[in-house]
Amino acid sequence: MPTLPPTPAPAAGWAILCDFDGTIAVEDVIDTLLERHGLPGWERLEEDWRAGRIGSGECMRGQVRLLDLDREALDAHLDGLSIDPAFPRFVALAERHGLPLQVVSDGLDHAIHRVLGRHGLGHLPVAANRLLAGQPPEYWRLESPHAAVGCDSGTCKCERARQAGVGGRRRTLLVGDGASDFCAAGEVDFVFAMKRLTGHCRSHGIPHLAIDGFGDALQALPLLLEGRLSTPAPAPAPAAAGLAAVP
Ligand SMILES: [Mg+2]
Ligand SMILES: [Zn+2]
Repeated sequence: MPTLPPTPAPAAGWAILCDFDGTIAVEDVIDTLLERHGLPGWERLEEDWRAGRIGSGECMRGQVRLLDLDREALDAHLDGLSIDPAFPRFVALAERHGLPLQVVSDGLDHAIHRVLGRHGLGHLPVAANRLLAGQPPEYWRLESPHAAVGCDSGTCKCERARQAGVGGRRRTLLVGDGASDFCAAGEVDFVFAMKRLTGHCRSHGIPHLAIDGFGDALQALPLLLEGRLSTPAPAPAPAAAGLAAVP
């Protein structure tokens, strides 16, 4: 009797990528630092980035050199920042389902580790820019170990999303809110979107659910895992529990 060809392995489930600034953290960490401790010149870099004259990586490397505060003042500032109160429960839910979750950020690794650590989440993998001691008189400088050729972000989230998908063997969910998530949104299978990212997903036909925070994400994740949020074309997605997925 001939041996049967092996059946293809089913998709192993979902991997989750979460943005940090404005998504896990209520505010954008670098913005809060620059507003209180930025030397003149950081607004100009911000304008250049918004106008598309420089990439986010170049913008942030320049802004970090203009941060005028030492380690002690930095950590005191970071300890005053808050996160979405539902995020720890979202992490716990993902872990109960065995879903790998990583933080992907175009922000500062030290800030993320410190803020997550304060909430008992120091075990989460983080891909972000590396904050390092600068050459005096500059306090700080930035390195981007997760940058990619051809991408002008400090952290190339699209590359992280591709890796998390392990060649199509895992589906990928992005939770994010802003411009640093735009490229990854086009790479993942589904997006839980907030703020500017919602409009981007809508105008680019990216399967997403508009959420207001991780409280909504907690309700939506089980629906996603049950296949009730995915949007097989051309049938419209079913609305479930008051949460409507939009293609
Ligand atoms: Mg963000
Ligand atoms: Zn990229």
